[in-house]
Amino acid sequence: MLFAAPQLKDALDFAAAGYKGARPYVVYPSPQGVLISQEIIETLSHQEHVIIICGHYEGIDERFVEKYVDLEVSIGDCVLTGGEIPAMLIVDAMSRLVPGVVGKTKAVIEDSFYRGMLDNPNYTRPALWENMSVPEVLLSGNGHEISRWRRKEAVKRTLSRRPDLLSRASLREYISGVNVAVIADNEEINLSGLNELCRVYNLGRPYIIARTKELREKMKELFPEAKILGSVAKIIEHLGEDETFIVKVSAVSRENSLHSLEVKRRCLENSDKKILFVFSQNYESFEGLEGICGYLYGNDIKLPICVEIGAALDRFLGNR
Ligand code: SAM
Repeated sequence: MLFAAPQLKDALDFAAAGYKGARPYVVYPSPQGVLISQEIIETLSHQEHVIIICGHYEGIDERFVEKYVDLEVSIGDCVLTGGEIPAMLIVDAMSRLVPGVVGKTKAVIEDSFYRGMLDNPNYTRPALWENMSVPEVLLSGNGHEISRWRRKEAVKRTLSRRPDLLSRASLREYISGVNVAVIADNEEINLSGLNELCRVYNLGRPYIIARTKELREKMKELFPEAKILGSVAKIIEHLGEDETFIVKVSAVSRENSLHSLEVKRRCLENSDKKILFVFSQNYESFEGLEGICGYLYGNDIKLPICVEIGAALDRFLGNR
């Protein structure tokens, strides 16, 4: 038994009739749809009208799906008797994004998936229950330490339970600080847009590494907003040696370089440290420099340095 297309079309027209403006966005919950995610919920919450078609029995006539359904979405690899519970799930998840539905917006942002990661474990009173105590730090009243603990626990959970989420996660909220450094081999380097990129991602002023005094003078003239130093070691001196994790990033893969997902994982494992992303016009300039190497693309097309930096910042720090 199936829902027939003509009657479904009548139902759709009836449901849409009350609305003026944009064509409604039609969702069909189905075990054969794309797996539901927070991103899909966010997309739906930006639509003016959403109509959810709940199937039953064997489902609905495929011709209706082809012609009128915008999104077929599954709530997981199991089969229910009807689409009503998936529809409720979608409505509930969308409602949480409506300002005011959840008392504190911050609570929504910190929940699992919103920033692409799992939430940290949560505790409330009493401090001791059935011989189990609330982690000491949560009772300390030290806001900074509590935030640090929460970030670390969220990272630990995500890495052990759902490493697949990493590709969607922005590292921004989970690492102590991010800095960008560019090795300039000559004054021809084109860094227009670098300051803006650092501002978009809320980073401090970028570092430019110029190895000769002459080049440093020139760079100071050309890029007054940047911090010009003679070596990466000088930056590390500035940031704190034990507190800096160096990631050398290039657009193309080289010997020993890591996929950007692995770089993300390592950054999270070092979430207590400041991350220094180092870029260079020539891969050879990385020689002798500590840290891990990451690459962004599998092919060998050289990108202008600021495009490379933008792509990397988006990959590691951008919202999903
Ligand atoms: N014949 C369908 C199949 O094998 O793909 C299953 C139909 S199911 C018994 C009936 C209805 O329940 C579907 O049309 C759909 O609306 C809903 N449904 C069942 N499982 C679902 C799931 N995992 N996600 C979303 N909707 C589901």
